[in-house]
Amino acid sequence: MTILDGKATAAIIREELKEAVLKRKSDGKKIPHLAAVLVGNDGGSVSYVTAKVKACEEIGFESTLIRYDETVSEEILLQKVANLNQDNSIDGFIVQLPLPKHIDELKIIQAIDPKKDVDGFHPQNIGKMVLNLPGLLPATPAGIIELIRRNEIETEGKNCLIIGRSNIVGTPLSILLGRNGKPGNCTVTLAHSKTSNLKTLSLEADIIIAAIGKPNFIKANMVKDGAVVIDVGTTRVEDASRARGWRLVGDVKFDEVAPKCSYISPVPGGVGPMTIASLMINTLKAIENKSK
Ligand code: NAP
Repeated sequence: MTILDGKATAAIIREELKEAVLKRKSDGKKIPHLAAVLVGNDGGSVSYVTAKVKACEEIGFESTLIRYDETVSEEILLQKVANLNQDNSIDGFIVQLPLPKHIDELKIIQAIDPKKDVDGFHPQNIGKMVLNLPGLLPATPAGIIELIRRNEIETEGKNCLIIGRSNIVGTPLSILLGRNGKPGNCTVTLAHSKTSNLKTLSLEADIIIAAIGKPNFIKANMVKDGAVVIDVGTTRVEDASRARGWRLVGDVKFDEVAPKCSYISPVPGGVGPMTIASLMINTLKAIENKSK
């Protein structure tokens, strides 16, 4: 069994990006600049955005963090998005989700200039992905594809079960793994809460990708010997033994599932760091696309 070490893989990608920044510098080109808009104080969102800013610093990207109170109006947020779209010094930006209930997330996403949409959530980028045209891919699915690619996992002809059909993970990932590419050419099944025969499907799957948000949902009796298991789930579970009072738990019951797998990704240290690495790759792509 091989651990899909997202932390180590993301560190390699950051080194590659560092090189690309140094090359841009020596060529007298602009340094990529990522901005992040953070609304409110949700613990998860704050730590994701902090990690993104830290990754920028390490790579040598410029970064700007823009914070708003959770009471900020949709209008002010849309105005900020319009400003960032216009601001030539900013090459890419994200608006960290989820947003407070009074703000229409889709409206915000659709207001972002697709060329600066480094989260890859804009309908134009999703459409390009579906048509296999160059664009900015959604960060988490792209990170998973990169983890598969760099670990040379064969996907062609494999039965792949993706559990969870969100717009940011499961649905785009089903397109990427089903398309004619490498990685790709899987026979994809996209499961969700209305799927009636999940255990039968999971026992037939060569590759299982869990993006549900239910701790330890995938048990050993749902996984066939030699399967590849990728765990996207990250749920904060109370843990008094930790100084911060919680720990991150994935959707896969790691200890019992791991011995059956050919490859498995851990939580933390699997998909999470790859998502941040993808965001950085997209930021570099965004600045490179500017000059095209
Ligand atoms: P989400 O919007 O939270 O939706 C969960 C999905 O799971 C839905 O499609 C739902 O089905 C499905 N589901 C719920 N119960 C199920 C069940 N019993 N059987 C089968 N499917 C079931 O999804 P998300 O935003 O993709 O998040 C999923 C998890 O991934 C969360 O833990 C999130 O924190 C994590 N995540 C991690 C990263 C990372 O970088 N590591 C990035 C994004 C998300 P319905 O559609 O029918 O409701």
